[in-house]
Amino acid sequence: MLGWALVRVAVGYTGLGMEAGLRTIDERMMRQALSLAHVAARLGEVPVGAVVYRGEKVFGAGINLREHAADPTAHAELIAMRQAGRRLGTWRLDECSLAVTLEPCPMCAGAMVNARLGRLIYGCRDPKMGCVDSLFRLCHEERFNHRIFCLEGVDREACGAVLSDFFAQRRAGANPPKPVFDPSLDLLDWQHWLKIRDPGTATHVRQDAGEPAG
Ligand SMILES: [Zn+2]
Repeated sequence: MLGWALVRVAVGYTGLGMEAGLRTIDERMMRQALSLAHVAARLGEVPVGAVVYRGEKVFGAGINLREHAADPTAHAELIAMRQAGRRLGTWRLDECSLAVTLEPCPMCAGAMVNARLGRLIYGCRDPKMGCVDSLFRLCHEERFNHRIFCLEGVDREACGAVLSDFFAQRRAGANPPKPVFDPSLDLLDWQHWLKIRDPGTATHVRQDAGEPAG
């Protein structure tokens, strides 16, 4: 009996350790997503950033690039997932987590279900487009063949602030000029899009966010 009790205590501690470890990784990844959102703001894009990771390794990173790419699907999460698929050589991201600053829209939440994403971590809710918890609950939908573990509110204030600051500056006319379509932009080329306008920023983010592994 004592033996079993010790095993249960040990398993309990391991479980707690894993949970605490994951939390720390999630928080760190969210900070990377946040620094990417700040890059998007500097580029004049609505600031959303995302990273896809497995364990402590980043396999994909994205920022919203709708204006530069003239592409309605160029959301941070989709870019990050496409990069991760290419780097991992599979569309299945069931062993991956994705951290994004804003609650995903229906398109991105749908793509996450299609990717069989393992875990989703997001910062603040989006009452107008959010389809994880706000308007629809696509990642929790029992009728789909896949459901995603979701954790919201990681760095919520900072994730909300980058957006509210961006729109406040836009109202004050203080934002960078509206980006123009760049036909040479390769959404899957992390190095390329980080250098779109501000090489100094790109260097800063690479140090902050780390290079996607692979
Ligand atoms: Zn989206």
